[in-house]
Amino acid sequence: MIATMIDTVGFAAPSAEAPLGPFAFTRREPGPTDVHIDILFCGVCHSDLHTARAEWAGTVYPCVPGHEIVGRVVATGAAVKGFAKGDLVGVGCMVDSCQQCASCAEGLEQYCERGMTGTYNSPDKHTGGVTYGGYSKDIVVDEKFVLRIPDGLDPAAAAPLLCAGITTWSPLRHWNAGKGTKVGVVGLGGLGHMAIKLAHALGAHVVLFTTSPDKRADALALGADEVVISRDAEEMAARAGTLDFIINTVAAPHNLDPFLSALKRDGVMTLVGAPAEPHPSPTVFNLIMGRRSLAGSLIGGIAETQEMLDFCGKHGITAEIEMIPIQRINEAYERMLKSDVKYRFVIDMSSLGTV
Ligand SMILES: [Zn+2]
Ligand SMILES: [Zn+2]
Repeated sequence: MIATMIDTVGFAAPSAEAPLGPFAFTRREPGPTDVHIDILFCGVCHSDLHTARAEWAGTVYPCVPGHEIVGRVVATGAAVKGFAKGDLVGVGCMVDSCQQCASCAEGLEQYCERGMTGTYNSPDKHTGGVTYGGYSKDIVVDEKFVLRIPDGLDPAAAAPLLCAGITTWSPLRHWNAGKGTKVGVVGLGGLGHMAIKLAHALGAHVVLFTTSPDKRADALALGADEVVISRDAEEMAARAGTLDFIINTVAAPHNLDPFLSALKRDGVMTLVGAPAEPHPSPTVFNLIMGRRSLAGSLIGGIAETQEMLDFCGKHGITAEIEMIPIQRINEAYERMLKSDVKYRFVIDMSSLGTV
């Protein structure tokens, strides 16, 4: 059999200012360890918007975003052991790493010391160009970076687990959220709603901090035990020194001090939102008094991502989604900027057939 490049179609941003539109391109011919996936659904992450609009440095155009991918295996390379045609699989934020450095050896490919290959807008070792993401019909990925989607999960609602899910799961696990711990979640968006669901299922007591009183009912329904309106100084003061761990999902610069004050001695607040401008510096006094830590965390490793998916399979956890056809992606970006989504857009990739 002669392997050939795969003709495919997707949606790309042609420049920082132009809306996304149809884009024809090719995927590499699958090598021995590659999996060719027919993409069914792709979640829409804030990183997609930041990258498409060059709000972070280094966007190469045309840019095909998308790193919350769920699809079916179409074909596998001769040496692929873990996947077979017809399997329901996922691809998250990475498609490659060096596989040799200390971080890769520990299964923490996201911190690869030579730089992991992002699913989109990263130098592509195979083509010499940049990687193209999941707003497309097909993708070809090395099997080491392909995840199994457990039976019983709705494949569309499982897509956001590949970024929003693992981005919150990894720090919750690293800082031992579970039974007997009190976990704060700052912000109720795509990341925050997954943090609530996962922390609750891990057995933690979950406190949501939000600026919007109208999110109270939703937060409780998602699994929060308490909802605190973070603009209310009295409500905040009542939580001082009570939390073991906080996951802060807010991507806009804000005052971190009220949240650091809510930590117990030795408590940790981890930032997972990435603002384009820095947060104002926290008051060091708040850290010294109580030996508190302010930390950060980036997505999660491949083994950890599979662990999270298996946990979600066991507990029936998926994201709350609004499905859209790809033709509505530009409108979806505008709505995301207004936080007008509960809580993640997912693109139905069958809509590409009508491009
Ligand atoms: Zn993402
Ligand atoms: Zn590495």
